Amino acid sequence: MKDYQDIISKMTLEEKASLCSGLDFWRTKPIDRLGIPSIMLTDGPHGLRKQAGSSDHLGLNESVPATCFPTASALAATWNRDLAYQVGKAIGEECRQEKVGVILGPGANIKRTPLCGRNFEYFSEDPFLSGEMAKSHINGVQSQGIGASLKHYAANNQEFRRMTINAIVDERALREIYLAGFEIAIKGAQPWTVMCAYNRVNGTYCCEHPDLLTEILKNEWEHQGLVVTDWGAMNERVEALQAGLELEMPGSNSGNDALIAAAVKAGSLDESVLDEAVERILQMTFQAQETLAEDFSYDADAHHTLARRVAAEGAVLLKNDSKQLPLQRDQHIALLGGFAKYPRYQGAGSSFMNPTQLDTFYDEMIKIAGPDNISFAQGYPMKGLTVDEALLEAAVKTAQSADVVVIHIGLPDVFEVEGLDRTHLSLPESHNQLVERISEIHEHVVVVLSNGSPVVMPWVDKVQAVLEGYLGGQAGAGGVADVLYGIVNPSGKLAETFPRQLSDTPSYTYYPGGPKTVEYRESLYVGYRFYDKVDKQVLFPFGHGLSYTTFAYEDIKLSDETINDQETLEVVVTIRNTGDVAGKETVQLYVSPVNPTAFRPKAELKGFEKIYLEPDKSGQAHFTLDHRAFAHFNTEIKDWQVEAGDYQILVGASSRQIHLEGKVTVHTPQDIEIPQRDRLPVYVDFPADAQINQEDYESLVGHPVPQNVITKGELATINTPIADMQHSFVARRLKRTMQKQMATFIEADDDSPNAQMMRAMVYEAPLRTLLMLGGDQMNREMVNGLLLMINRHFFKGLATLLRSRRK
Ligand code: BGC
Repeated sequence: MKDYQDIISKMTLEEKASLCSGLDFWRTKPIDRLGIPSIMLTDGPHGLRKQAGSSDHLGLNESVPATCFPTASALAATWNRDLAYQVGKAIGEECRQEKVGVILGPGANIKRTPLCGRNFEYFSEDPFLSGEMAKSHINGVQSQGIGASLKHYAANNQEFRRMTINAIVDERALREIYLAGFEIAIKGAQPWTVMCAYNRVNGTYCCEHPDLLTEILKNEWEHQGLVVTDWGAMNERVEALQAGLELEMPGSNSGNDALIAAAVKAGSLDESVLDEAVERILQMTFQAQETLAEDFSYDADAHHTLARRVAAEGAVLLKNDSKQLPLQRDQHIALLGGFAKYPRYQGAGSSFMNPTQLDTFYDEMIKIAGPDNISFAQGYPMKGLTVDEALLEAAVKTAQSADVVVIHIGLPDVFEVEGLDRTHLSLPESHNQLVERISEIHEHVVVVLSNGSPVVMPWVDKVQAVLEGYLGGQAGAGGVADVLYGIVNPSGKLAETFPRQLSDTPSYTYYPGGPKTVEYRESLYVGYRFYDKVDKQVLFPFGHGLSYTTFAYEDIKLSDETINDQETLEVVVTIRNTGDVAGKETVQLYVSPVNPTAFRPKAELKGFEKIYLEPDKSGQAHFTLDHRAFAHFNTEIKDWQVEAGDYQILVGASSRQIHLEGKVTVHTPQDIEIPQRDRLPVYVDFPADAQINQEDYESLVGHPVPQNVITKGELATINTPIADMQHSFVARRLKRTMQKQMATFIEADDDSPNAQMMRAMVYEAPLRTLLMLGGDQMNREMVNGLLLMINRHFFKGLATLLRSRRK
């Protein structure tokens, strides 16, 4: 073990400050004279995106081949902690081969709305499931001596204006929904690094949020690792360091290292704060160096096989009328849909990677059933979203003589892009029409979906089976084919609700907010917590997923009828496989407080176990429920509180298929008062349309909500998005210049994911982003100069600009 204190004592102030930002896009700075190495941190999360050539944080330039595992929404749908661990471990191995010290993932943000463009990279709408999957994934990565970076901390639940938006979240929602998954992963896996999000939370940028970074993360959860910025998320460097942000990435030309040193010299920053940051940075660096000193090579075929297993287990059988599935190998199948040949298997943005190989559904189906049993028609155009009559007709023809029609549809790549949210939940009309048309002429229609987040299915009652394949990674096609033919019995369950329509979603009225704030008025009622509270019908509920076998939930035993709030409750559930094939079932446990005083969701997931059972065999799932399984966050005492009273223990196959119930009475040694805001009537009895007026919302958050308009004459700051700068000649010029610049490398009619992502980025980026984009050509003084000019201090700004260029 290195003596970090000794190394720190030998460092100059400037050397210490220098370690607090990157060397370049992906690497930390070395200090040769002290033997401090430089290490590489790179994306993540579902595989390694290591760029050997040009670098970017949007997945635009090529990266070295690596295994593209199913994205987090698919991994979460396995509800299998061991698989999450195995995937993490395999990614860790790939990092070892490629000499990468830290992988930037997993992402544990909550799916507040199905529209978020990065939902494919996140696990769930539920913090317990998110936290458990993230924890296992991180433990897998770190078992290899490679660090994980848990991201994006916190309340980064939309892409719209992600660099500047101010998420107004009440304390209970923050603690019980948005932080709870991070908490589980941090306490249970100690990720080497946590990545702060771009956005603000309740007024403060995540990178400089003392409550989030120091009070909660370091003091309360005892995180031992370091906090790194999301790429370009730095705001005020010294404030950030003081708040608990150690490493700024990528390397900055901002002069921020110098600001740190100057603050220490001026006495406004205690050197011990810097020393502590440096110690955490050294710890990460040397740990990685130790691992990477040894050469390693991974088995790419084994990883591909693992990716296929995960894809099969993450595929969710949503519907299977008259046992349409599994397919028989001698059935003649019409396979329709271009995705079968041109797979949709990952999303766009910083997670976009270069797979070691790529399977297609068409090939994998043929490998299983033989070429004579599969006929193919494309059915819809691969470019554009509109119906192509000729392709449709050809598909109808192909379908006519088949025993079963398998239609492969989903979301084209432009729908799931970092930096952009969707605006609706619909599939392209060309995909929907294909299903409609075929279901008119055929009685055996199976729909296979490739998409990273929920879609609406207007045709759902007209088809016999629906298999949600998610974005299954490079071996996703094989995994789905295995499920279709019953080689793998499906056991995936939804980690998110599929609503019937967008307007049913709880954040519908308040998302995406902007220009400045987004209000989380629905508070705790996210996902099934909302639908269940107000008894709203959904398309497919949280936790839903069918199997080719059936399970009987036979028995539930609770260790006690009464406990006190410091004791644990043991729950044992017996289930039996009552069908005729072996299969796995995820037994889900929800806790439901009976008549609580504080406002609470009806029931919340507090345990899950996946059990494998041969036909006619029974098995047991064991759960241990502790204090936190019953608690809510009391905003007065700032701690978790269990209310005395009765709690139902609900066990079942989904949030809406509860098969067994138990009851426990919890006693508490003393009564703790529940403050008024934690029991606001409108949240106790939440309205079915989720409409909360401003007054009620302000009572919940405990203060007036900030104004969400750009006022006339408002001065621009380094955090004003370029799009919002309209009030001066220079601002308009700058905007036009940026637009012109962009036009030189993005054609006006280019609607590819990358083009759309770039446009959104430039439009929404705050001025300080120039520091990241401008490379060596840009520095903080220049940005300040520009800002002065934008704010109509033309000559002063110009002078600053000129001064900065002379340096
Ligand atoms: C993303 C992060 C990513 C980073 C580096 C950012 O744009 O938000 O998730 O790790 O870029 O590529």
